[in-house]
Amino acid sequence: MDFRDFKERIGIFTCLLLCIVLFSSFYFGQLRSIALLKNLPVIHEEPSKPTINLDHTLDFTIRNDVQTRTYWGAPIIWELMFDPKLYDKKHQEGNTSVALTVFAVGRYLDAYLNTFLTSAEKHFMIGLPVTYYVFTESPEKVPNIELAPQRDLKVVKVQKYSRWQDISMMRMKTISETIEMELEGKFSYVFCFDVDQEFKNRFGSEALGESVALLHADFYNVPKDRFTYDKNPKSKAYMEDGDHYYHAALFGGSLQNVKALADFCHVNIMEDKLNDVEALWHDESHLNKFFWLNKPTQLLSPEYCWDNNVPDKKHILVVRLTWAPKQYDKLRTR
Ligand code: UDP
Ligand code: MN
Repeated sequence: MDFRDFKERIGIFTCLLLCIVLFSSFYFGQLRSIALLKNLPVIHEEPSKPTINLDHTLDFTIRNDVQTRTYWGAPIIWELMFDPKLYDKKHQEGNTSVALTVFAVGRYLDAYLNTFLTSAEKHFMIGLPVTYYVFTESPEKVPNIELAPQRDLKVVKVQKYSRWQDISMMRMKTISETIEMELEGKFSYVFCFDVDQEFKNRFGSEALGESVALLHADFYNVPKDRFTYDKNPKSKAYMEDGDHYYHAALFGGSLQNVKALADFCHVNIMEDKLNDVEALWHDESHLNKFFWLNKPTQLLSPEYCWDNNVPDKKHILVVRLTWAPKQYDKLRTR
């Protein structure tokens, strides 16, 4: 090979190298702008997501009197199945924090809020940081509760709908908005409660899960054909079949899952309004539809929300939360 050949080859090689460099910078540059165009996150920020799962520590056989697991594998939490100390330790080490939402609108505030909050301070997620979000149209009437360390209470003013059905149903809209505007990034879990209840015993970190539904005390032990699903095909809540009858008096989970539930219920409630129908049990009918289509990852037994009017209490080893007496005539708007 003479010197000219050598120079030629070096020239071709340099040209090739230049081409590769130019092409790859163009190609990867393009990828980046495509990512930007499609709004794909170029710098990816992980949303806060609960990761603690202690299902493998549960004893599914200790309660042979009741169902402890669903057919899709979700645990149903009953007394004796879990080790409370282990749950609390893991959640404390994992820095779990919980937001609790509760609505006290109209006469429900005077009748129930004080008992609900003071009993929650004794039994709800003791040892974990908890922030109560109280929604009411009369913030000045919210009682001044003494809170334990790491616990906080925020009052949010909401409008008062004139029909009690709307006060109940429109909670879904407020819950969704609150998760998006206020809770996202600040809490590991959110749990949403009716106010007409009282905590009686530990309601602890074993109740936390990605998507948590409650078995209704009146229906957990009755045949499926007695479940009061919405049976009107005109309603978005219409269901022919289901797994369980869930109680809307409490539900919870990761922020993302609870927001999905609240959005689903709210959109379907609004569509029903456009079609001039209302589901049989309002938000509860829509919640049952949601959990039929999106199976909860964890179920709470009726120990977590007991109705003292149910005469047969044989499965209930611990009443953790109980229904307060209903006073519909006195308390409801119309
Ligand atoms: N609610 C309220 N004011 C009302 C009606 C309802 O604050 O006038 C809220 C309150 O949190 C209540 C929940 O909506 O617990 C659901 O209503 P309710 O408890 O009457 O329903 P039920 O338990 O009978 O299904
Ligand atoms: Mn209630």
